[in-house]
Amino acid sequence: MIDCAIILAGGKGTRLASVAGSIPKVLVPVGDRPVLAHQLDLLSAAGYKDVRIFAGHLAEQIEAFVSGNQWPDLKIQIEVESTPLGSAGAVIEKLDTLPEQFTVLYGDTMLAVDLPRMTAFHDECGADVTILVHPNDHPFDSDLVETDAEGKVTALHSYPHPTDACYRNIVSAALYVVQRESLRPWAGKAEKYDFAKNVFPAVLASGGCLFAYHSHEYIKDMGTPERLKKVERDLSAGRIKMGNVATAIPVVFLDRDGTLNAENGYVRSPDQLQLLPNVAGALRLMREAGYRLIVITNQPVIARGEASEADLAAIHQKLEWELGLEGAYLDAIFHCPHHPDSGFPGERVELKMACQCRKPATGMLDLASAEFPIDIGRSWMIGDTTIDMEFASRAGLRSILVQTGSCGRDGKFPSATPDFSANGLMEAAEIIADASKPLFEA
Ligand SMILES: [Zn+2]
Repeated sequence: MIDCAIILAGGKGTRLASVAGSIPKVLVPVGDRPVLAHQLDLLSAAGYKDVRIFAGHLAEQIEAFVSGNQWPDLKIQIEVESTPLGSAGAVIEKLDTLPEQFTVLYGDTMLAVDLPRMTAFHDECGADVTILVHPNDHPFDSDLVETDAEGKVTALHSYPHPTDACYRNIVSAALYVVQRESLRPWAGKAEKYDFAKNVFPAVLASGGCLFAYHSHEYIKDMGTPERLKKVERDLSAGRIKMGNVATAIPVVFLDRDGTLNAENGYVRSPDQLQLLPNVAGALRLMREAGYRLIVITNQPVIARGEASEADLAAIHQKLEWELGLEGAYLDAIFHCPHHPDSGFPGERVELKMACQCRKPATGMLDLASAEFPIDIGRSWMIGDTTIDMEFASRAGLRSILVQTGSCGRDGKFPSATPDFSANGLMEAAEIIADASKPLFEA
């Protein structure tokens, strides 16, 4: 149920001191208004009634800002913490004054999240805590989560990570829906707690029910001068508004083997995955040009019993982690586990079928469209085979054949001609970036 939101506005804005000076983080302007005003707009539009701002540092300025309340449908209360108790400590201290369920926002994030939708997911799952998660371009210094197929959190990895870490790029985006009673065990202690580092791991360890809400909506922290600059650029380019659940965004669909990673026969284990040169840079360039990046890959190794779904997950974990180390990420990876021909020793009979998802069939595009609103007319396909080019033609995508992997010499669909040819992923990315200049200027 949408009712109460908590905005965590305590903590000193030391990391933003060079731009914020002596104003609290939540009053740092993004565009022509403080980030707090953007957040209150969102809460008001979503139907919230009760907003508690947990403030510490420079609370009187926040009081002054909300005193001329421009959001008459919101009842805004400021809770001033006497001693800094961390993100969760301050909330837990006031636990008995809070309703049964509330949404927690951090005061230094810009977001365009459909909060009623996230709350409905939380209610449906019957979760104690729901954490919004997404991939980002710095998983190595982010708090990460692991989930099962239904989205139930199975492990939390808070930053800093061990040097040999390798995780899926599933980042906790610091937006939560919380059942008050799940925090009860900490009540009355008035100690310093952080949600990500102390409270959620303990809730999980004690058998609590945490869910991850996978979202592709816009949510970014602006807690450092560099991140603030990025968020301001996103605002002026229209990216924040476009990052909502409904706006169709162009996508670059990417083949995997021979396009992102070297084609050394079939990849059956993580150590066989070797990224091609400049792949992360190419992905960064396409993202900067305004595209989502979605991998669609035929993996008949699964049907043939040569690799399990768990092996594939481990391979994709390595792919995501290595890209993340270079500041690149994928929005999603879809794979076809099927294969039409029988007769391999160890094969999985249930996956031996003529399916709708094995490229050049377009089933994986349908799967992606069910999760992401896609502007097909401005989308692309990049691959190294005529199968990928045939897929692009059937799906109505512009296509680029890269001269890596099979270099288009697979001979499967000789009449499938690409719109462009490129010597590698970076050149393909440059072609797309050049063709896309007007994307954010309209
Ligand atoms: Zn399939």
